Amino acid sequence: MFCPQCGKEYTQRVNFCCQCGTSLSIPAPAHARKITRSRTDHKIAGVCGGFANYLELDVTLVRILWLMLAFFGGWGVIGYFIAWIVMPEEPLPQTSAAPAGSPALQRT
Ligand SMILES: [Zn+2]
Repeated sequence: MFCPQCGKEYTQRVNFCCQCGTSLSIPAPAHARKITRSRTDHKIAGVCGGFANYLELDVTLVRILWLMLAFFGGWGVIGYFIAWIVMPEEPLPQTSAAPAGSPALQRT
């Protein structure tokens, strides 16, 4: 491999160029995961929770932004329903055991 900055050749796999310090590690594929509606973090359909998960944002912030879009022009409402239709639901957890701390599942 070659350093993209200074052109120094490396025969071994190195993470950083020893001449200029440029990172030579191959970055992991960004956002390989799918955007899905959240099953755990939802008020209506989990659209905001899914966006928050995907964008690594606070779900409350996403809801505020979405509500602002809804009030200023109404596109947030339309966008929400479009997202509801097109976004797949988050896959069910693999384990059959109830998730810890889930209030809905603690009743027997
Ligand atoms: Zn270099």
